[in-house]
Amino acid sequence: MKMSYLLAIIACLCFTTCLLAANERPTVYVTFWFDTEDFILPQADDAAKRLAEMFIKRNVKATFKIVGEKAKVLEERGRDDVIMALANNDVAYHSTFHSVHPTPSEYSRDLSWHEGVSEFIRREGVGLEILRAVFGVNASCYGQPGGSWTPQSYAALHAFDIPLYLDDTSHVNVNDRPFWYCGILTILELGDGVMRTRWTDEEVKQACAKFDRVHEKLIGEGGGIISIYYHPCEFVHRQFWDGVNFSHGANPPRSEWKMTPMKPKEQQEQAFHAFETYLDHIVNHPDVRLVTAREIPSLYPDRVYSRPLTQSDVRTIAKAFQKRLSYVVLDGKIVSAAEGLLALSTFVAGIDTNPKPKEIKLEFAYGPASAPQRFVTDGTFRWEAIQQAARETLDIVHATKQLPSLIWVAGEPMRLEDFAVTLASLITEERYSGDIPLRKGELEAKKYVADDSPRLWGWVIFPKGFNAPRMMEVAKLQSWTMKPALLRKQ
Ligand SMILES: [Zn+2]
Repeated sequence: MKMSYLLAIIACLCFTTCLLAANERPTVYVTFWFDTEDFILPQADDAAKRLAEMFIKRNVKATFKIVGEKAKVLEERGRDDVIMALANNDVAYHSTFHSVHPTPSEYSRDLSWHEGVSEFIRREGVGLEILRAVFGVNASCYGQPGGSWTPQSYAALHAFDIPLYLDDTSHVNVNDRPFWYCGILTILELGDGVMRTRWTDEEVKQACAKFDRVHEKLIGEGGGIISIYYHPCEFVHRQFWDGVNFSHGANPPRSEWKMTPMKPKEQQEQAFHAFETYLDHIVNHPDVRLVTAREIPSLYPDRVYSRPLTQSDVRTIAKAFQKRLSYVVLDGKIVSAAEGLLALSTFVAGIDTNPKPKEIKLEFAYGPASAPQRFVTDGTFRWEAIQQAARETLDIVHATKQLPSLIWVAGEPMRLEDFAVTLASLITEERYSGDIPLRKGELEAKKYVADDSPRLWGWVIFPKGFNAPRMMEVAKLQSWTMKPALLRKQ
């Protein structure tokens, strides 16, 4: 009796220790997403349904990024079964027409920031309305068709009430991890954290081994996210539907759209089988949780807006800006260069108020819409003029939700970068009177936005020789808003 009592205590202690050990292991989140876009080949509908049901059968969910025209043809074809299977997973958005020209980068190529935002809302809002009507929910995320990325789409996502950008492209990237751009949580390139399997048994084995390797690496980082994506149509076709019809700028009328050739039946089965084996490997892996796009924003809270900044945060930002004008890591949160500038402006604006503001609350602001051509390059400015300029900056942001393209200080136009570093130096030196020298700054965060180059525009659907230098300059202005996203502690 006594012995069994002792054994029970030992067993109980072991169990508790095991539980504690299990709880200490971080979680690796895995998000599966499917660009559900082929609105020409009807067999792609069945492929989407089969994949959607694989997840439901395992009590997990994937994200289906659906093209507006695809949602429309599912209704027209009477495919309620497919719609229900997708709706039982997570519904996201993937543009109105995908590859029908002009695609988003094509029509945004030479537009200003504001023109590009309204044109994206006008064109892509159509498909989103169809998606919402067919599925009865708003999209959980957006990702661009092919490589057709635009900076203005991010402001449109705010208008669409879509909090996440999920795709895989190299136009913007912060350290191969989730990040913020224009106030939208963004998951694109994740280094080796974007993965998939091909179809042979050997390829599945290699893909599972890679998953294990990357999983262990992310556990070492305290957790992270893995992104795995496919297109339902690629399980059944031999060539992409849009390559067949819309390559290199081709834009045939609907009556001339061709169906892509199908894979032989056994190859289709092999593809589904390979994917299912891979999925089982991941679902049954310890320390893994599958998440949909709808769940991801809650994993990456932006505490800059949920907790005010302190005076000590402001001094940290001021010091950091003098070394590099980019995001700044604070205790438990990260400010972008734009948020840092607004924190410094708020601090300076309140310097002679009594009592001094202890807490600094920020409003979100986009980066500037344009870059100034004419601006002051040296000289000194009265403290009162700088403080007045800081107050005006806050007024402009309050009215427009956007940083101004330049700051007027005592009637002189000053670059935003120079204003930020000038504020940083006067705060560090505590010079709140007299003449303040202009300090020069460069926005280091620009390096997180790619330069225009043929590498960005390799999507076969673009017209030959396509580029977008002006659009990438507009994109760089938004690097004021870029910063890594912090994973919630587990
Ligand atoms: Zn696509």
